[in-house]
Amino acid sequence: MTSRSLHPDTVAVHAGREDLTDLGVHAPPIDLSSTNPLPDIETGGSAYETLASGGYPEGTAVYARLWNPTVARFETGLARLEHAEAAVAFSSGMAALTAAVLATTRETGRRHVVAVRPLYGGTDYLLASDLLGVETTFCEGTSAAVAAAIRRDTALVVLETPANPTLDLVDIRSVVMAADGVPVLVDNTFATPVLQNPLKFGAAMVLHSATKYLGGHGDVVAGVIACDEERAAALRRVRAVTGALLHPLGAYLLHRGLATLPVRVRTQQANARAVAAWLADHPDVARLYYPTDDHPLIGRQMDGTGAMLSIELRGGYDQAARLTSAVQVFTHAVSLGGVDSLIQHPAALTHRPVAPEARPDAALVRLSIGLENPTDLITDLDRALSVNGHVHPPLTAIRSRIPDLQT
Ligand SMILES: *Cc1c(COP(=O)(O)O)cnc(C)c1O
Repeated sequence: MTSRSLHPDTVAVHAGREDLTDLGVHAPPIDLSSTNPLPDIETGGSAYETLASGGYPEGTAVYARLWNPTVARFETGLARLEHAEAAVAFSSGMAALTAAVLATTRETGRRHVVAVRPLYGGTDYLLASDLLGVETTFCEGTSAAVAAAIRRDTALVVLETPANPTLDLVDIRSVVMAADGVPVLVDNTFATPVLQNPLKFGAAMVLHSATKYLGGHGDVVAGVIACDEERAAALRRVRAVTGALLHPLGAYLLHRGLATLPVRVRTQQANARAVAAWLADHPDVARLYYPTDDHPLIGRQMDGTGAMLSIELRGGYDQAARLTSAVQVFTHAVSLGGVDSLIQHPAALTHRPVAPEARPDAALVRLSIGLENPTDLITDLDRALSVNGHVHPPLTAIRSRIPDLQT
């Protein structure tokens, strides 16, 4: 049976492990070779040529900057989960974005990028800077705004949905239509392939900061792009020459992380729904940023509301500062998507490099909900918020109103 006919939960466990039984092993081997023996000069030279132009190893992998089989196992797993022909892994999400921009602009001679705001702060900053030699037009996620921003020399459209940190949902299909043939890259870090497969809606490339949900345990920094074989070859050419490689030990951990990804994401999502329901009518919360069930893209584009949420506090920056310092179960730290819950202040941290007009409000904090018991998470927030003197209905009084909350 090919893995294409299998449920994604099964693919997550088995993809990239197809040859293990023949190898007589149960866990994927980790290949740490920086170089590989060459059968003879001719074979070595031609394998080098093929790999440097973005192809697959023939006879020898030559050198680890060109190819690594442990990294390839993770790439296979992620490609299957995104319903893509291929995936290419990098040393970080930002390295993956850099490669996507270089592959689409330098190789086509077009130098213009359209970027839908809001975006992860690092992405926004990189595209706004002239570091990669591109000019970027930022716009809203409506088809009219995207269509107006597209130029004859536009090489790439970049969007994020759900977006960071407001959890705005962008209609991928309508942006793809408005892009009128220009490839659209979707940053799928927040949704993961468990909840959303952007290629199904016409995206050309799907980017993940694998540092987040894919790894899921806060111990690997990595990025990956899933796409068709032609674009993957272009990305491998850039990777081979710029060297933004994922180390095989990190690739092993990410590949292992994929096996539990569906279970983690669904449980984290259920926990986030409970936390969001509790925060929704908290007197200190001026605004909750979390997709609602009746949003037209929930169920159509994204299978659920995800496990990330943000809140704007009535007490502004001062209350945000007190809350982030007072939590005990949550960790005050940037990053997201791991088994443990994190809380952070985007304006001061993840979105610090963003231009002032696009920077999040100082009263906003972002929460990444983990696998802890949701009652413990709510109790932690309740205690940390009541440091401010407010009295909120005790948990027991609201428990019946939160369907996802189990004890
Ligand atoms: C973290 C993040 C990135 C950058 O990834 P790194 O692995 O930190 O380089 C890009 N996009 C989103 C949505 C992120 O959360």
